[in-house]
Amino acid sequence: MKVEEAKQYHKIDAVVVGSGLAGLRAALEIASSGFQVAVLTKVYPTRSHSGAAQGGIAAALANAAEDSLELHMFDTIKGSDYLGDQDVVELFVNEAVKTVYELEHMGVPFSRTEDGRINQRPFGGHSSPRACFSADVTGHVLLHTLYEQCVKHNVHFYNEFQVFSLLIQDDISRGVIAWDIRNGGLHIFHSRAVLLATGGYGRAFKITSNAHANTGDALGMILECGLPLEDMEFVQFHPTGLHKYGILLSEAARGEGAHITNDKGERFMKDYAPAKMELAPRDVVSRAEQTEINEGRGIGGQDYVHLDLRHIGKERILERLPQVYELALNYLGVDALVEPVPIQPTAHYSMGGIPANIRSEVIKDAKGTVVKGLYTAGEASCLSLHGANRLGTNSLQEAATFGRVSGIHMVQFLKENGYENLPANPLEQAQSKISAWMNGTGSERHAKILAELQDNMTKLVGVFRNEEDMIKMKGILKELQERFKNVTIDDKSHIFNLDLLEAFEVGNLLSFSDVMVEGAIARKESRGAHFRSDYPKRDDKNWLRHTLAWRTDKGVKLDHSREVVIDMDRYPPQERKY
Ligand SMILES: Cc1cc2nc3c(=O)[nH]c(=O)nc-3n(C[C@H](O)[C@H](O)[C@H](O)COP(=O)(O)OP(=O)(O)OC[C@H]3O[C@@H](n4cnc5c(N)ncnc54)[C@H](O)[C@@H]3O)c2cc1C
Repeated sequence: MKVEEAKQYHKIDAVVVGSGLAGLRAALEIASSGFQVAVLTKVYPTRSHSGAAQGGIAAALANAAEDSLELHMFDTIKGSDYLGDQDVVELFVNEAVKTVYELEHMGVPFSRTEDGRINQRPFGGHSSPRACFSADVTGHVLLHTLYEQCVKHNVHFYNEFQVFSLLIQDDISRGVIAWDIRNGGLHIFHSRAVLLATGGYGRAFKITSNAHANTGDALGMILECGLPLEDMEFVQFHPTGLHKYGILLSEAARGEGAHITNDKGERFMKDYAPAKMELAPRDVVSRAEQTEINEGRGIGGQDYVHLDLRHIGKERILERLPQVYELALNYLGVDALVEPVPIQPTAHYSMGGIPANIRSEVIKDAKGTVVKGLYTAGEASCLSLHGANRLGTNSLQEAATFGRVSGIHMVQFLKENGYENLPANPLEQAQSKISAWMNGTGSERHAKILAELQDNMTKLVGVFRNEEDMIKMKGILKELQERFKNVTIDDKSHIFNLDLLEAFEVGNLLSFSDVMVEGAIARKESRGAHFRSDYPKRDDKNWLRHTLAWRTDKGVKLDHSREVVIDMDRYPPQERKY
């Protein structure tokens, strides 16, 4: 299909895909530097998953106790199980402080200390109370404040536009193709610079804290362009998902002192992380929980344990943790003031993603060759800041800080570069998918394939992994991918065709899950969130390396030659104990 066959052609300096914290912060930077920027988002901006973040945003302000940039850096590196690139971590902790004050000046209503400074609460793996917060609705207020700022600075919003393909040719980004959800039809966005900020992708799992929109669309599109993903085997399981739903009960609950107990009423963290107890990092607590469950000490021998808030007291629970209280009440009918809340580990955060350098430029190989004009930030990206395990509250900070950093570099790029030509048939890739689904005669339905994918990923590639399970998953994925070729959608209309949008999303989930599983099979060690029962030890000799993975006609291709950036004099790898 030629350009003129598009429903509409737009020419604009920069396109930002995603209106979460990362996308909005970048858009604000670009717009306030005098360039025209379009934000394309499949959900309304203020419904992006960033708005669901409860607990806080990390920065070493030292408002609640002594703290320093060095300590924040050390905690993040240790939390990453030494897989985080230390140059990126250093930039991050330095910028984090500035980011928080900047957000405060934009109008974010942070909770305060008695003397009026931004209050800070403890969070897992941080050795000082470092999480700046607004009760337990921190993401909500951050997202709304940034959205206001974007509107004020004339960012162009294309709400309910789902990006379907990236226009990349000769390693140069030229724009994107998006489907107009409300009216139907493909639009061409021809731009000089593109930012991919589509957020996390926990929806590959059945039990997840992630929103329905978190399907890793940009990751699927990147793989489709023949580009790699990085460190996809590292998926964080959060220990306090609401039983059966996976909906998150913020770590703020433990920050405020909540206990986790087994069937005998024991605070079992004493056996796993005696120094930090419930405030050990998430991977440690999730494994402890899963071990208790697997060894029959779940409540009544079932697949959950208890989060007990009762001793925190009514006043403090309702003031500091209103959302946690309401979620337990609304979904499970449990009144956390008088009874403990059933919880289980839930797929929560994705450390891996689209590989990028410290300037947020997308790279295409282990040497760091840049795809010109293409940037990524937030949870969709892998910089790699969080390495093998992210510390709570570091990701809102990553989204805000690297939203700004990517915006700054995009502005610089826009000052130096003009428009590149569009590919000859820009609509082809998106159009051929749509017509295959719309006009197909196959009997497969994407919803069924999705349910099988999620169920098996939770069972076979979860908190504990082993070769046998993952090889099984690999076979299941192969079969699901074959079946996906015969997917037909029942809704043939163009207006709010959710059937079509979901088919596209399931395609993306299948595509990157493959890379996740292959990366996990290849990494024969346990590090951070990636725990292998058959290789329970960390192996620094062989595995202080990132994984780059491509999808090819012959299957997934892996490259482990990209070494972790480590400053051996300052932060050499140590055993990770809490
Ligand atoms: C329940 C929950 C609680 C959390 N709590 C905390 C916390 O307290 N502290 C913390 O630091 N982190 C927390 N996190 C993690 C943190 O919120 C996220 O990592 C971060 O907000 C991600 O921001 P983002 O901008 O990258 O993506 P998101 O906010 O997820 O935004 C993604 C955007 O991409 C758009 N999009 C996706 N695909 C397409 C497409 N194909 N076309 C167009 N648009 C598309 C969506 O519409 C959306 O606007 C939490 C996460 C969850 C799930």
